[in-house]
Amino acid sequence: MFSVIHEGGHALYDMNSDDSLAYTNLDGGVSMGIHESQSRFYENLLGRSRAFAQLVLPTLQSSFPGKLDSCTAEDLYRAINKVEPSLIRVEADEVTYALHVMVRYELEKRVMSDELEVKDLPREWNRLYKEYLGVDVPSDKEGVLQDSHWSGGAIGYFPSYALGSAYGAQFLRKMRETVDVEGCLKTGNFAPINDWNRENIWKHGCTYTPGELLDRVLGEKFDPFVFTDYLEKKYGEIYGL
Ligand SMILES: [Zn+2]
Repeated sequence: MFSVIHEGGHALYDMNSDDSLAYTNLDGGVSMGIHESQSRFYENLLGRSRAFAQLVLPTLQSSFPGKLDSCTAEDLYRAINKVEPSLIRVEADEVTYALHVMVRYELEKRVMSDELEVKDLPREWNRLYKEYLGVDVPSDKEGVLQDSHWSGGAIGYFPSYALGSAYGAQFLRKMRETVDVEGCLKTGNFAPINDWNRENIWKHGCTYTPGELLDRVLGEKFDPFVFTDYLEKKYGEIYGL
């Protein structure tokens, strides 16, 4: 479900460039960091919120008869926000997610600078997963080979995931100044949220550089502490810290 929401965020961004940019080089997303800010915005900032859990629970209960009858919205909210070190990036929680990105990015840098040979990647992958996440990798399938980004040649892509997650938190804080985000999620009316993203981000395509876009939308520079504050507040409340 969360992968579908994630890719839906990418799709909304790509589909909503202004018509005047169609068939030009300015059509579509401006950078993969901004792109991932939209996908992870819908996946996590909205999709893993308490209000969305309330909205989606009846649909899940009717889709999986008998499986979720005793599940409350609060149960669902806590289940989809369980924090634990794991093997697979795309299924990782918001808190540990960036550690997966760091492992991959550090290894890519070492390979590209000839400090590390490709044949040694599985060993180094496993070593860093143990060091950063404390997990033992049982197989390369669940380790170094889990992502298609190697064969796809997307070297250097992974920081986009961490950057996008952090950009998204800053967009959400700004959006909340004019949009009742929780109210939209409770009623399932996503139009005001989508309208804000379309007006501020999507319609511009590649007209502005990522830095210019952030300045225009936020009126301030990128600040990763907005994201870490969001994580501390959300997960501090869930875990009673
Ligand atoms: Zn993505």
